[in-house]
Amino acid sequence: MSRKGLLIDYDQCSGCHSCAVACKQEHKYPEGKWGIKVEEKVFVDPKRPNSSVRIDYIPFPTEYCDLCAARAKRGERPACVKACQSWCMYQGTLAEMTVLMEKMPRAVLYSR
Ligand code: SF4
Ligand code: SF4
Repeated sequence: MSRKGLLIDYDQCSGCHSCAVACKQEHKYPEGKWGIKVEEKVFVDPKRPNSSVRIDYIPFPTEYCDLCAARAKRGERPACVKACQSWCMYQGTLAEMTVLMEKMPRAVLYSR
């Protein structure tokens, strides 16, 4: 069977944290344990040095992400993909995800 991957177009991520909350609820992870985290990076855009700061949100799956194996067995999308407010998360085979990733300037691809 082809390996699966989780692709996140973080250029479109709004930093809403819905993915992190949905994952935590799905897996009933205790406090401090996350399947995905959303990092916030604040910087001045070098292309616009006189403007206000830019904030990037970078979601990244942790070692506890099992690609929602139980949901996959039931034919359901991962909890994070379903909950994403910006429709910027995708799941599929690595071959499918790398094709999609070609069109994304900034993205994270996770597999296991
Ligand atoms: S694929 Fe499932 S386990 Fe992985 S981050 Fe998303 S919700 Fe969590
Ligand atoms: S749910 Fe989507 S938009 Fe919200 S933080 Fe996660 S990846 Fe970003």
